[in-house]
Amino acid sequence: MPVLSSVEGSPISRGYGVGGGKDALPRRLTKQERRGSRPLYCPADANVLLPPQTPVPYRLKSRTLNPDMPILDTLGRPVRDLRISVTDRCNFRCVYCMPKEVFGHDYAFLPHNDVLTFEEITRVARIFGTLGVEKLRITGGEPLVRRDIEGLVGQLASHTGIDDITLTTNGSLLPRKAAALRAAGLRRITVSLDSLRDEVFKAMNDVDFPVQGVLDGIAAAADAGLAPIKVNMVVKRGLNQDDVVPMARHFHGTGHIVRFIEYMDVGATNGWRMDDVLPAADIVRLIDRELPLAPITANYPGEVAQRYRYRDGGGEIGVIASVTQPFCQGCTRARLSADGKLYTCLFATEGFDVRALLRSGASDANVAAALSSVWQARTDRYSEVRTSLTPRSRKVEMSYIGG
Ligand code: SAM
Ligand code: SF4
Ligand code: SF4
Repeated sequence: MPVLSSVEGSPISRGYGVGGGKDALPRRLTKQERRGSRPLYCPADANVLLPPQTPVPYRLKSRTLNPDMPILDTLGRPVRDLRISVTDRCNFRCVYCMPKEVFGHDYAFLPHNDVLTFEEITRVARIFGTLGVEKLRITGGEPLVRRDIEGLVGQLASHTGIDDITLTTNGSLLPRKAAALRAAGLRRITVSLDSLRDEVFKAMNDVDFPVQGVLDGIAAAADAGLAPIKVNMVVKRGLNQDDVVPMARHFHGTGHIVRFIEYMDVGATNGWRMDDVLPAADIVRLIDRELPLAPITANYPGEVAQRYRYRDGGGEIGVIASVTQPFCQGCTRARLSADGKLYTCLFATEGFDVRALLRSGASDANVAAALSSVWQARTDRYSEVRTSLTPRSRKVEMSYIGG
């Protein structure tokens, strides 16, 4: 099988990285690039071209205010997904997300009154639904540490008109919560797990939490009828790269979908270096050697994971190549922080204060107009203009903005 240099041919090696930041865009994207029709190179097999990943134009559901006039940002991207961070707190201290040295006992988490209530979150989600949002992801911090989180799921399921609701969790509290979440209207779930070896996993979560606790959470989610279950594994070179193939093997044939995520320079505290990134192409190659893979098309426009199926019929995996093969051109995600700030990029430095608007008595129409203007002004494409210098900029933390 031909072997490709993993970063060759990626935007990083094509010199997109000059400057960086919103004011230093190298050039405006061509119409074709905005539409995402550029074929992607399949790293597992140099003779295979992946089909276009982002077959826009996007179709919006009928509840959109005016389906013929979707809200588009400056690069022609509609808003389709809302990620809702319900807390900036977490019971883990993953070294790549909330390092203990920074998020210690004296760390100032958001005060209770600053955090959006379930009613406020539901209102924002409902209004976003009228602007084109079709999918909600509840995240954090660790969303299951928020009291009565199933109550929020219930409100979102019954009051927003959006039925595609999912949640990302570290899995530690799932044995207690899975059935209630399902009963409240959650359909599927993503559970994070970075290794199947206790010594490695404990070193990564840094709170001595065992692998079995997360596996029990995944089993509880499956028993409760949450499906599909996706398992997120962040791969950091030199830390857990040897766990890639065992993780693939463990979930092969179970129906659960492992998604291998390139370690990202989110926030400003994890000390990210490009050398720590194991490129997705290498991850695919490692798995393909043991469990042969074939690429498959995206489920929907803007899907972040590149999908591969096992050639033996054992299911599928995904790789999220946000660093080496950025997908900003298909990025339709907005993020709402626990204290009600709206961010239009995971790597943003500032957000728009929706909470102030909600608490000032603004009407739904006023809130909708404000959200629309923020989205319409959006220029974000951080991952396409990342340089070795940009990780040092003062970005908000992922535990705050929501992963
Ligand atoms: N606490 C929940 C969890 O861990 O699943 C939800 C929030 S967490 C921020 C969401 C996802 O972001 C997790 O799958 C986590 O592994 C991933 N993540 C956190 N920091 C990351 C980083 N530096 N690079 C890539 N993924 C990261
Ligand atoms: Fe907590 Fe999730 Fe961040 Fe780990 S990745 S520290 S579990 S928020
Ligand atoms: Fe979207 Fe920002 Fe990530 Fe690009 S860098 S895919 S714009 S969140």
